[in-house]
Amino acid sequence: MTALDVGVNNLVACTTETGQQFLYSGTDSYEQFRETTMRIAELQSKLPAGKYSSEQIRRLYRKRTRRRDHAMNALARDLFEWLAELGVSVVYVGDLTGVLETHWSVEANAKTHNFWAHRRFIDRLEDTAEEYGITVEECDESWTSQECPECGEREKTIRHGDSLWCPCGFEAHADLDASRLFLETETGTEVGPMARPVRFEWDDHEWSAISHAHDSPKESRTNLQVASVGGRTDRPQARGISSL
Ligand SMILES: [Zn+2]
Repeated sequence: MTALDVGVNNLVACTTETGQQFLYSGTDSYEQFRETTMRIAELQSKLPAGKYSSEQIRRLYRKRTRRRDHAMNALARDLFEWLAELGVSVVYVGDLTGVLETHWSVEANAKTHNFWAHRRFIDRLEDTAEEYGITVEECDESWTSQECPECGEREKTIRHGDSLWCPCGFEAHADLDASRLFLETETGTEVGPMARPVRFEWDDHEWSAISHAHDSPKESRTNLQVASVGGRTDRPQARGISSL
């Protein structure tokens, strides 16, 4: 079994029962979306009085949507290829509604509604999962990204960027840890030991594995070399991650 934390800065943070973690960065895709949005605003400000759109603006809107959907569709495919190879049959996906209402900043909310298209993305994940014979179960995990996995604190923890900090001294990658905690809650068992997380970035064509956050430079290069073989991200076996 596997749990996904679906977010904005990281589109997907994923923890499998066997301790593998995948992280799909939303940064590049969002930045591209934001640039097109600014270009649209600029064109709109130059429209003659009484005009609200133009063919050029409509074209940019279509392009913006197409690029976002392309990145998200490719993500869904990449992710479920991995999970299918790992023998995963059930994936838990969190419903973040509660988080959006209570904890997220205004900027995060804007990102969510315009860029992220949460419902559409979850539907896409479910459709793709079905193709791989994987079942998706939606659950309420609205608290997990705020909870300290060490002491259970939920009120006094601080999220800053990708980090979760707790007064008890705990500090970790918030989204990856949320997906781990989410999985442990759903399965009722502890996950571990954890392999080093694999991070994926979008280059407008495909999702590629990049160096682990805590890798030494030498290990990072090795991984990048492996990743470039065959024009696709390397497989779990190729990377030395044991499959089920
Ligand atoms: Zn704590």
